Amino acid sequence: MAKSVYTFGGGAVHDDPRAKDKTIVGGKGANLAEMAGIGLPVPPGFTITTEECVSYLQQGADFSAALRAEVAEALTHIERAVGKKFGDADPSGAGPLLVSVRSGARVSMPGMMDTVLNLGLNDATVQGLAATSGDERFAWDSYRRFIQMYSDVVLGLDHGLFEEALEIAKEDHGYLSDTEMLAEDWQELVAEYKRLAEGELGHPFPQDVTEQLWGAIRAVFDSWDSDRAKVYRRLNDIPGDWGTAVNVQAMVFGNMGDTSATGVAFTRDPATGERSYYGEWLVNAQGEDVVAGIRTPQYLTRDARLAAKAELPSMEEAMPEAYAELAAVFDLLERHYRDMQDIEFTVERGKLWMLQTRSGKRTAKAALRMAVDMVGEGLIDEVTAIRRVDPMALDQLLHPMLDPDAPRDVLTTALPASPGAASGKIVLDSDLAEKWANNGDKVILVRVETSPEDIHGMHAAQGILTARGGMTSHAAVVARGMGRPCVSGAAAVSIDMGARSLKIGDRALKEGDLITLDGSTGQVMAGLVPMIEPELAGDFGTLMQWADKHRRMKVRTNAETPEDCRMALAFGAEGIGLCRTEHMFFDAGRIMAVREMILADDEAGRRRALAKLLPEQRADFVEIFTAMAGLPCTIRLLDPPLHEFLPQRDEEFAELAADVGVSVEHLKRRAEELHEFNPMLGHRGCRLGITFPEIYEMQARAIFEAACAVSSKGGDPVVPEVMIPLVATRKELEILRSLVDRVAAEVFAEQGRTLEYLVGTMIELPRAALMAGEIAEEARFFSFGTNDLTQTTLGVSRDDAGRFLAPYVEQGIYPRDPFVTLDVDGVGQLVRLAAERGRATRPDIKLGICGEHGGDPASIRFCEEVGLDYVSASPYRVPIARLAAAQAALG
Ligand code: ADP
Ligand code: MG
Ligand code: MG
Repeated sequence: MAKSVYTFGGGAVHDDPRAKDKTIVGGKGANLAEMAGIGLPVPPGFTITTEECVSYLQQGADFSAALRAEVAEALTHIERAVGKKFGDADPSGAGPLLVSVRSGARVSMPGMMDTVLNLGLNDATVQGLAATSGDERFAWDSYRRFIQMYSDVVLGLDHGLFEEALEIAKEDHGYLSDTEMLAEDWQELVAEYKRLAEGELGHPFPQDVTEQLWGAIRAVFDSWDSDRAKVYRRLNDIPGDWGTAVNVQAMVFGNMGDTSATGVAFTRDPATGERSYYGEWLVNAQGEDVVAGIRTPQYLTRDARLAAKAELPSMEEAMPEAYAELAAVFDLLERHYRDMQDIEFTVERGKLWMLQTRSGKRTAKAALRMAVDMVGEGLIDEVTAIRRVDPMALDQLLHPMLDPDAPRDVLTTALPASPGAASGKIVLDSDLAEKWANNGDKVILVRVETSPEDIHGMHAAQGILTARGGMTSHAAVVARGMGRPCVSGAAAVSIDMGARSLKIGDRALKEGDLITLDGSTGQVMAGLVPMIEPELAGDFGTLMQWADKHRRMKVRTNAETPEDCRMALAFGAEGIGLCRTEHMFFDAGRIMAVREMILADDEAGRRRALAKLLPEQRADFVEIFTAMAGLPCTIRLLDPPLHEFLPQRDEEFAELAADVGVSVEHLKRRAEELHEFNPMLGHRGCRLGITFPEIYEMQARAIFEAACAVSSKGGDPVVPEVMIPLVATRKELEILRSLVDRVAAEVFAEQGRTLEYLVGTMIELPRAALMAGEIAEEARFFSFGTNDLTQTTLGVSRDDAGRFLAPYVEQGIYPRDPFVTLDVDGVGQLVRLAAERGRATRPDIKLGICGEHGGDPASIRFCEEVGLDYVSASPYRVPIARLAAAQAALG
């Protein structure tokens, strides 16, 4: 039977591959085992598998005797390795073994789940610890930390209670900082903590160390299902059934005086990607102190300290030997994992211990730079570099940045914790941030510091500003992961929650006021600062070139204005996959003619109005064909129901009536006649072309006249692709294809020039997908209109899905929002089947996708599998699609 507990460190060896398998022992456990295996100093410990977590959460039953026995045995492994016993109170012995109980899922979920440190302390062992370490202060400090953490994480008591008691104790003694607390002060505080805990619990704080251990294990398992962990999983697409592993590890102590310390570090700068050590540490402190922002952390290197003009010495200066050892470990880990590492370490009385390594979270900018640099350094190859950059993260780089030449009203400058610029309304709590954002407001979340409970507010915000915390604070780490700009440690910010107002320096502001953050410089500015377009050369250009070499599918864009076309071309689009002509109808200068056409009583009236629209549409297409310079352009004929263009207000009716020379009443009656109960399934798409052929005739004429005009100017000839929407039957397409062919022949005869062109259709109704074999007789290409195909296959109107889709996704009814990521299981079957049947009829049929899924990496992977010829995405998504298509092709 497979084991449920794996030891690491202290000479543990396993030939069982599960011992280093992230899915079994979690990322933290696997990496601890890996580090111990390559000879790095890792405190010994053991890992309980994720499988145990899953079965615990499903069955809720007590732990099995088998598991208890495995844990007991693994505990003796630690005891033997460190020469101490769990629960040992003997003042003349080696001292009690203390352990940390840490969570660690398959992928890291920074700060989402719980850890308990210093476990194994009670009224007796604390005396043993004091005697054997020769440091009373350290022993009582550790005990009070343990009571507070255990009470919070395992017993569910409010940690505010304990913090308050500590504040009062410091005040009574006139201390400013925790470091001034003496041994007897901590001892008194411990007594107070125990009183507090007993008052809340109704029974004493648990003294039995084995009970403590199992309580902590249970709490770590339970934390997998905490609200904040669930939110994090939803935002990061992490399945709920993975579970977390539990790591139990011998404690090492960074709080044993001034030769001890703790810290976190990245082997390269996670914000810029620069190849320099980056991190923070604190003398005489334990792990959580650095992240919690209790004291201002110190810099790792001398250069960083000098650059920041900080007074406290760097680790390089204060502990040169431990620092040198640490730097060597950084290099070793980078070469071993071939990636930037995020590391936790502790120095206990001068000796370095490694507590964690994982591949570090990074901004998009840093991801690009590191990928390109590491190829240059020979650490990875191009293919690895392509695979390593998350296409969605590019989004951060493709958006505008602050205009360097614009005036800035700088309120304060603090730590540049996560790059990028953001403007929005100040909001002081996360619930309100979410509420305002849902109402369409851009908000900047301003907090003293953030905690895991703020995750929804951070996600809703454009940017985050915190008064406290360093570069590795919760706010900084989470913001970088989410791609939100963040400025942290802005001491000039003081918040008055009661008045919902704040001061930045001497400037008074209130909730709702506009501010701008520059997460790359740490500047906080009043009001809105203008933005400029992003830089597409450099590392971005290099990675994109590599991606282009490896991708098979073409990437086109959805565009309907010359502006969109230019933007998409700059982003590398290779054609237009969807040009929606209706947007052109809404133009202020034309809407009158459009309305006149719709409300006309007969064909003659419609033709009169259409004649006014023809030159306008032709001019649009001339601009687009010119901008696209010979690249393929798919133009969709009119799709939405006509009533969408109708006047709404009385003045609009009056104006139109005067213009056309009919009565307002007459117009209103015609408008009512156009009312539909379910317009999405009503008189739209090719049904308009069938009933009012003159509309499609005008559009086809505009397309071909424009194509002739642009082609006559030299350069590459235009090859228009005319696309008929919402086709369900072969016959519809046959009728409309003949119409387009007839108009093309007329125009070519008039112009004395013949151009190549294609007529094809969207596949956006289940019937069309099923009948694709027949429809392909009439179609030179299919473009999967997956927005409508999703609506019609699921029977869900996207515009009305807001009320129920989120709970659907939360309950796992659909794994993801099917309008964002293609429902491969359902809608995907139709796409696959239509592609096969279409190809069977017409082997050279061109296949593409033009729904919004065309810019979604997971959906793009599916398109590659089905063998589509191209995907089409909105201009900003084109680079994302290029990279995702390359990753998909690489498999
Ligand atoms: P998280 O995933 O939230 O970082 P961890 O389990 O890594 O939680 O632990 C929280 C903090 O406690 C970290 O700073 C870590 O370095 C520290 N820590 C964990 N285990 C030990 C240990 N055995 N000895 C000393 N410090 C530890
Ligand atoms: Mg950690
Ligand atoms: Mg459609």
